[in-house]
Amino acid sequence: MTSSLTLGGLILLALVLYWWWGRSDEKKEHIAAKIAEDIKAMGDVVATSLSPRIDPSICIGSGACVSACPEKGVIGVVRGQAQLINPLGCIGHGACAEACPVKAIQLVYGTKTRGVELPVIDENFQTNCPGVYIAGELGGMGLIRNAVMQGRQALEHIIAGGPDGPRRGYSDAFDVIVVGAGPAGISATLRAMQEGLRALLIDREGFGGTILHYPRAKVVMTGVLDLPLYGKVSSRRLSKEQLVALWDEIRAKHNPPFISGELVTSLEPRADGMWGVVTDRGVRHAANVILALGGRGSPQKLGVPGEAQSKVAYRLLEPKEFEGRHVLVVGGGNSAVESALSLVDEGACASVAISYRRSEFARCRAENRRRIDGMIANRAVRAYLGTEVLDIGERDVTLRGSDGLTGKIVNDSLIVQIGGTPPAKLLGSLGIALTTKYGER
Ligand SMILES: Cc1cc2nc3c(=O)[nH]c(=O)nc-3n(C[C@H](O)[C@H](O)[C@H](O)COP(=O)(O)OP(=O)(O)OC[C@H]3O[C@@H](n4cnc5c(N)ncnc54)[C@H](O)[C@@H]3O)c2cc1C
Ligand code: SF4
Repeated sequence: MTSSLTLGGLILLALVLYWWWGRSDEKKEHIAAKIAEDIKAMGDVVATSLSPRIDPSICIGSGACVSACPEKGVIGVVRGQAQLINPLGCIGHGACAEACPVKAIQLVYGTKTRGVELPVIDENFQTNCPGVYIAGELGGMGLIRNAVMQGRQALEHIIAGGPDGPRRGYSDAFDVIVVGAGPAGISATLRAMQEGLRALLIDREGFGGTILHYPRAKVVMTGVLDLPLYGKVSSRRLSKEQLVALWDEIRAKHNPPFISGELVTSLEPRADGMWGVVTDRGVRHAANVILALGGRGSPQKLGVPGEAQSKVAYRLLEPKEFEGRHVLVVGGGNSAVESALSLVDEGACASVAISYRRSEFARCRAENRRRIDGMIANRAVRAYLGTEVLDIGERDVTLRGSDGLTGKIVNDSLIVQIGGTPPAKLLGSLGIALTTKYGER
């Protein structure tokens, strides 16, 4: 009697656990479907580096990929099968493909309908232009560890040289100019210094690359980093702040030859085989160039009078910095809308306004659209839809409406987020051969 009661109790417990487990899976599926729907509102979006392609004829919906992915809300199980629910959040860890028990996931570039343009490089990271190399995410493969490795390997090839020996600069030229001070560029520069080459590292921004723009306290999965001159960094999990501190330590210890705030705009081949590296401040010459520009591209500018003022920014890093200011966000895509939302959430601005040339917010996540519409309705954000910026004054901005009428609004800061030029466009203009991948490995 007692044992049949115990058995009954165990069966009941098992049933409750089974029900609870099923409910929690249902809940996760519901959230994943909502994210997928939310992203779909942006249209056909694609990850810029390697991302998972899931074969639905093989996928058994185990969810192992979802648990393995370090970036939350990127991959999910929807209607019993895995799906890349947010391609924009995928940074190509590949943990999902490794975790899949039935090998239903392959890492590919682009999709069948949206291609990804990539530079053509050989096994030494050299492009079709002799002496011009590409390392890091610009070559199509994301992740800090890959970037560090590729920067070093490109430099190894420069050191070893081809059949004619290493390409060294003449007295008027550097041996190597590295463009982009992210993990790839830093690693290449350190290796050049280790070898005693005359090297120069240039970046339009600071020392550290994309990492400097991560959200505060982001947990970064790095793998072991082997940095020339510095040595191994073995912690595989670091915070953004720890990584930034690592770059600072490297700068303090090794003093790499670094110039910040210079935008490289083109490369000029010289008759003697050297390259002229043209920036917005002048030209420098080198026997070799490593382009480590990352995958973010350059923000598009408005091209209006007054844009060069320091009050104009092209991304929002820290909403607190705008305390007490009248801020105008320009743009209507996801980034612009998210900036306006963060400024209102922080609650420190004197006022937040948004100017967009269209009459509604079209290419942004459904949830962002719902929130910005709500904030406009309750006047937390002033919307100037169907307008464009004509002129940026010291304390104001002139807008022109679609009806041709103009008006001034009080303004202390502008955040311009109207899209950008993908890095492939710059590479194409430099004469570097490109290829487009449609869902290919
Ligand atoms: C939100 C987010 C989270 C991520 N999390 C992780 C993670 O957890 N683990 C991981 O391994 N990876 C992560 N990544 C990816 C990782 O940051 C990149 O793969 C890595 O930074 C690529 O390094 P890179 O050196 O190739 O380029 P970047 O770090 O992008 O650096 C490129 C540099 O080139 C400069 N530049 C570009 N164009 C020019 C020009 N024309 N002139 C002068 N300078 C120029 C830029 O200013 C920039 O400093 C994440 C990325 C993002 C966006
Ligand atoms: S490739 Fe990486 S970021 Fe993308 S879904 Fe897989 S594990 Fe997540």
